Amino acid sequence: SEGINIQDIAKVFHRDATEIIKKLMMLGVMANQNQALSKDVIELIAMEYGVEPIEKVEVDKSDLELYFEEEIPEEAKKIRPPVVTIMGHVDHGKTTLLDQLRHTSVTADEAGGITQHIGAYQVEVDGNTVTFLDTPGHEAFTTMRARGADVTDIAIIVVAADDGVMPQTVEAINHAKAADVPIIIAVNKIDKPTANPDRVKQELTEYGIIPEDWGGENIFVEISAKMNLNLDELLEMILLVAEVQELKADPNRMAIGSVIEARLDKSQGATATLLVKEGTLKVGDPIVVGNTYGRVRTMTNDKNRRIKTAGPATPVEITGLNDAPQAGDLFVVFEDEKSARAAGEERAMRAQEAQRNSTKKVTLDNLFESL
Ligand code: GDP
Ligand code: MG
Repeated sequence: SEGINIQDIAKVFHRDATEIIKKLMMLGVMANQNQALSKDVIELIAMEYGVEPIEKVEVDKSDLELYFEEEIPEEAKKIRPPVVTIMGHVDHGKTTLLDQLRHTSVTADEAGGITQHIGAYQVEVDGNTVTFLDTPGHEAFTTMRARGADVTDIAIIVVAADDGVMPQTVEAINHAKAADVPIIIAVNKIDKPTANPDRVKQELTEYGIIPEDWGGENIFVEISAKMNLNLDELLEMILLVAEVQELKADPNRMAIGSVIEARLDKSQGATATLLVKEGTLKVGDPIVVGNTYGRVRTMTNDKNRRIKTAGPATPVEITGLNDAPQAGDLFVVFEDEKSARAAGEERAMRAQEAQRNSTKKVTLDNLFESL
């Protein structure tokens, strides 16, 4: 396998591999003989043997996370669209709101055209673009965060004015707070005679969400998703919050980003909706996506149009991967197809190995069970 493993190191330092494994264990690092080691661990071992690592250890190309740690020079950054996630309790109107926002944004020449469900879409507001994640809910939000993909810039929490704060409302607040993203409260269903927006405000104060007109810093917009009331105001508030955040990215580099959703299609093979974080994704780009790889064959936007390039915060559905990745996976564009393939295969192999090791794991419990 590629990379430097313990056996390689053992040879370098003329030590027994088991000795190095023990040393690592004492340092709290678990490693087996054939596992490729990270640069940090190699340096750690070198220090243990009193050697300053002189030669730079080459960065492991298959470590996609590393590409996300790269600092981007301020002067290369340009304003990008905000990425917005809509969350809230079931039946409080998330889907209705998403649909309305989407319809309002469909321009005359697109009207009647097929809009495509790709898991995310963009809305134009006064010459600005807003990206909405059409996530099935909190779960996707959490999975993405767990995988290091903090894709959301703003959380909209929908609370039905006739129902008030419910368990999933609280969950949504907690998710948004944990992700440290600004929260906009959309008090929905104000068209209903039983709507009581003030009660919603009151209830939310218990969770530290306080409206501006009550001296707090949370933006509240009273809307009716169904009747299309105040949705313009909601969009304006999103732009306002985005402006304060000064969201920027460098469009002039090889793209990196994450997977919004992915599936295996009978006719098209693997398709994945990618959200570009930095750079511009292009048709023909060699790419590694999670544990899959390929070359971007086609790109389709949320309006079902074929496009050739996609800049920061743009969601696109791509084809051309050898397999379907998973939602929340990271993607990185490589300079050539050969290195993309090598990195992709290495990742797939490691994932398989990890899978095997986890199923092989013997605990006292299952050991006794098998007796
Ligand atoms: P979700 O579970 O949060 O996605 O909620 P839905 O969008 O599916 O909405 C649940 C129900 O509430 C549906 O019957 C909607 O028609 C209704 N609904 C959503 N928004 C409004 C609104 O602003 N006013 C009224 N009266 N009903 C709404
Ligand atoms: Mg829904």
